[in-house]
Amino acid sequence: MVSQLFGKGGIVSLARARQQKKTIVITGGAGFLGSHLCQRKLNQGHRVVCLDNLQTGNLDNIAPFLAHRDFSFYEHDVIKPYPLPVAVDEIYNLACAASPPKYQADPVHTMMTCVIGALNALDLAREKGARVFQASTSEVYGDPKISPQPEDYLGNVNTFGPRACYDEGKRAAETLFHDYHDRHGTDIRIARIFNTYGPQMDPADGRVVTNFISQALKDDPLTIYGTGDQTRSFCYVDDLLNGIEALMAAEGIAPTPVNIGNPGEFTVLELAERVLRLTQSRSQLSFLEATEDDPKQRKPDIGEAMSKLNWAPKVALEDGLVRTIRYFQSGLGESAPLEVAARS
Ligand code: UDP
Repeated sequence: MVSQLFGKGGIVSLARARQQKKTIVITGGAGFLGSHLCQRKLNQGHRVVCLDNLQTGNLDNIAPFLAHRDFSFYEHDVIKPYPLPVAVDEIYNLACAASPPKYQADPVHTMMTCVIGALNALDLAREKGARVFQASTSEVYGDPKISPQPEDYLGNVNTFGPRACYDEGKRAAETLFHDYHDRHGTDIRIARIFNTYGPQMDPADGRVVTNFISQALKDDPLTIYGTGDQTRSFCYVDDLLNGIEALMAAEGIAPTPVNIGNPGEFTVLELAERVLRLTQSRSQLSFLEATEDDPKQRKPDIGEAMSKLNWAPKVALEDGLVRTIRYFQSGLGESAPLEVAARS
């Protein structure tokens, strides 16, 4: 409780702390980003309503919060409406499988999660007069023909490939956010999130960072899809959440999408080399067939986030990898729960 009374500027009054207490809905709150965000919001003294269908989210991620008096969890799929009988100040719409093998496993459901999930978040925001955040994605740029990608780049997206359910679903969600803002004045924020990594990732989610670390720690071959020359920009989870929170807190900004990511660009082979070195692994590289529609390069232009939000990532790839490797080493994620301030 004491920690809730100390603001950045020193001690604040109990009345002011109570006044600032918000009710925050987090869809996908049991997932990687969602559980980190639940932890932050609880530690800031807010009430958190966490919704998750546990398709890729995991109860273990939110187990430390379940007894907290300001935390409630509903096992719920956002493709169904979720009228909540409480006042709501902010909604973070994070619900959707984000790893290619996971979102491609049930593409129709992925598309519905993106589109109907966005619609339901917007309807709740409209009813409650809440500010609503949409977790959009660098995937809206598809296989980009320019680099880095600024927000006004319209993208190069295949409507008909295995990634389309996610890419087009997230694009349609942005459109819905735009139209709710335009027609109903809904208070929206959209971040285009680039590849993010860190503790609390599911070791089995099939993404490159989790695959490489899991494989390296077992001395198994690192699976390189294609040549390994394709690039990605990896943002540490704390940096990403700082950006998202800055976007949600900003007043008087245009309601347009903002790239949030780390502009450091690495080939998949460079990532493999770093993981091997940091884990001191004896793993070999195993070159497999490239996946269909795999973007060849990805690097955010973060000029908008820097000027609008005064935000830039701080954690270098190697530092973030070390923290993530440590998490994986502690029982491959099974024994390293997030911590929240003690329940008062
Ligand atoms: N990748 C790889 N080996 C793996 C997993 C992924 O070479 O075991 C590649 C993948 O083909 C892509 C990049 O790593 O080029 C990033 O893949 P990820 O699934 O992490 O995310 P994406 O950015 O493609 O959504």
